[in-house]
Amino acid sequence: HQRLTGKRAIITAAAQGIGRASALAMADEGAKVFATDVNAEALADLTHENIETFVMDVRDTASVKEGIKLAQPDVLFNCAGVVHNGSILECSDADWDFAFDLNVRSMFRTIQACLPGMLERGSGSIINMSSALSSIIGAPNRFVYGTTKAAVIGMTKSVAVEYIKQGVRCNCICPGTVESPSWHDRVTALGEKLGSYDAAMEQFVSRQPMGRVATAEEIAALVVYLASDESGFTTGQPHIIDGGWSG
Ligand code: NAD
Repeated sequence: HQRLTGKRAIITAAAQGIGRASALAMADEGAKVFATDVNAEALADLTHENIETFVMDVRDTASVKEGIKLAQPDVLFNCAGVVHNGSILECSDADWDFAFDLNVRSMFRTIQACLPGMLERGSGSIINMSSALSSIIGAPNRFVYGTTKAAVIGMTKSVAVEYIKQGVRCNCICPGTVESPSWHDRVTALGEKLGSYDAAMEQFVSRQPMGRVATAEEIAALVVYLASDESGFTTGQPHIIDGGWSG
């Protein structure tokens, strides 16, 4: 018996990074996984006997409703999110709106679409991607990102208390820096600014007290735990997994 046998799980932003690692980890544990992303090309080589992929844009309510209807999920992992660079003085109205739409409103859309089915079945686990960079800690150059990820913690708690007696749990994950394609882009961009890729890498790694960043698989292990019935007594919590960054 595997840890997620009999569960149907939908994941947003599953084409790469933490979402992809989580799709594979959940599928390995026996879940029927619906791995979705806006990027069809990047989804194409995500193959596993328990994984079905399709395009779902979390910024589009109709797309979300259609995807959730197809998946009928017991587990929702809201992984989609974008990291914006910049301070408050550098954040445009458009940046603010985009970040809140992709990082926060997306979860309002997916949770609203999933809940009726979960409540009908009397069980469900919702897992939202927040960050250590949120209401937990601040970091320079991450104004709107930290603001949106703090909102995710608030949303998680609001949903959790509402349905606590109806079998639906809602938690969020707060990672430190994690190796992923978009993180590599951020290191490269900072490297161009500093004139050295190695100096940029050193800056990211040195803020992690463990002296390294996380692998996507280390985060996926926490996702599997929160998706499974093993975590049945936890809800409404930000689960910090940050290599000691906020400690
Ligand atoms: P990533 O940033 O490399 O990949 C993001 C994925 O999101 C891409 O596949 C992209 O196509 C998809 N996406 C973008 N817009 C979308 C949309 N509208 N609908 C559906 N999918 C869309 O992956 P990552 O770095 O593992 O980040 C995943 C999540 O983890 C994000 O929410 C991020 O904020 C969070 N996070 C990442 C880190 C880190 O250091 N990597 C740390 C803490 C939290």
